[in-house]
Amino acid sequence: MGKRNAIVIGAGIGGLAVAGALGRHGWHVDLFERRPEVSAVGAGLLLAANGVRAVRALGLGGQLAGFASPVTTAGFRTPSGSWLGRMDPERLAARLGDRMVAVPRPALHRMLADALGPRVTVHTGVTVDSPPEGELVVAADGIASVVRAALAPRVLITDVGQVAWRALVPAAVVDTEVPFAETLGDGLRFGSAPLGRAGVYWYATAPAGLIAGSPAEQLGQLRLLLGDWHRPVPQLLAATDPARLLIHPIAQLASVPTMAHGRTALLGDAAHAMTPNLGQGACQALEDAVTLAALVTDGADVPAALTRYDALRRPRTAAVRAQADRLGSLVQARGPLARRLRDLLLAAIPDRITEAGAVQLADWRPPVTS
Ligand SMILES: Cc1cc2nc3c(=O)[nH]c(=O)nc-3n(C[C@H](O)[C@H](O)[C@H](O)COP(=O)(O)OP(=O)(O)OC[C@H]3O[C@@H](n4cnc5c(N)ncnc54)[C@H](O)[C@@H]3O)c2cc1C
Repeated sequence: MGKRNAIVIGAGIGGLAVAGALGRHGWHVDLFERRPEVSAVGAGLLLAANGVRAVRALGLGGQLAGFASPVTTAGFRTPSGSWLGRMDPERLAARLGDRMVAVPRPALHRMLADALGPRVTVHTGVTVDSPPEGELVVAADGIASVVRAALAPRVLITDVGQVAWRALVPAAVVDTEVPFAETLGDGLRFGSAPLGRAGVYWYATAPAGLIAGSPAEQLGQLRLLLGDWHRPVPQLLAATDPARLLIHPIAQLASVPTMAHGRTALLGDAAHAMTPNLGQGACQALEDAVTLAALVTDGADVPAALTRYDALRRPRTAAVRAQADRLGSLVQARGPLARRLRDLLLAAIPDRITEAGAVQLADWRPPVTS
């Protein structure tokens, strides 16, 4: 078998993961990134067991364990702090074989970038403006992918009418134990997860238009709206530097007709950007990367391998995206009646049913190739 060459566009989590995996499988990879450097915008990230398994399949489980914080509690709370429903991460980990973790996003990026290996050449500061041709092309250029826009122009990006705020707060400023939990108010949601020495990651979502102005003004409005929520919500907001507050309108992608176009594969958010309600977007990008690299290995015919990649990945990612949508509709309930119904429903679902759903979602395994 002669030298095999691949082009990967985008050095986000998906692009870095697939470029490294292809390199380790013997491909020579040119990785193009429009930013001047390979770096992460973001505070923290939750990796469910399937994301952790994908990282292990990439051969990076040991590195991940070096900076990942195991999630030890999980569930939904009311603004006064009572639990509406809880999952036991220990039990989930026992059933899945892998445990959900929280990580600083930059550390995950660094890990993937450091593992690219000698066969991957990184070209930063290069914006790809049309689909390139090659033996294997992977478009991992995010939700606004130019490659997908050229190959599947009818697939639209939808603004879901929600805004997300995210930040990382130094551990020292929070004088209370922070569980991983989501607290649900009137259309407002706040989640936090401890990241060990890296601090505490928090995120909040609200309907678009509710909060506006400069980052400092938006933080001020969040502090006002969530000021009487249980500890440590007000404390985390008070300890946040507005200059480091990330603010993103939430968008998602309609279904793509295929993730495989001849020798070009769509991967990660370029193929299936979803709402962050389940914390699965990056996990799915990692699953894509592991699957794609496994299928194009050992002299496989590339278009046939990509057809198989599409068959494995499109139903899985569509199901996860739909589940994220359903959860979003439930947890973002607005108005007294909708809220009451949501809280009653969440409190009525037995924890073991919630856990069974989480197990089903995270029970993914890399493809077995001959
Ligand atoms: C608020 C929020 C919270 C989230 N939380 C979680 C979570 O807890 N867990 C989880 O699993 N997921 C989470 N996600 C989803 C996750 O962030 C994404 O699914 C994931 O980052 C997608 O990675 P990607 O590599 O596919 O795309 P991206 O991260 O978008 O990377 C694309 C890369 O391509 C580059 N690029 C774009 N266009 C070009 C071009 N034309 N030429 C060259 N380079 C280009 C970009 O600069 C970028 O580096 C969250 C998302 C949001 C919005």
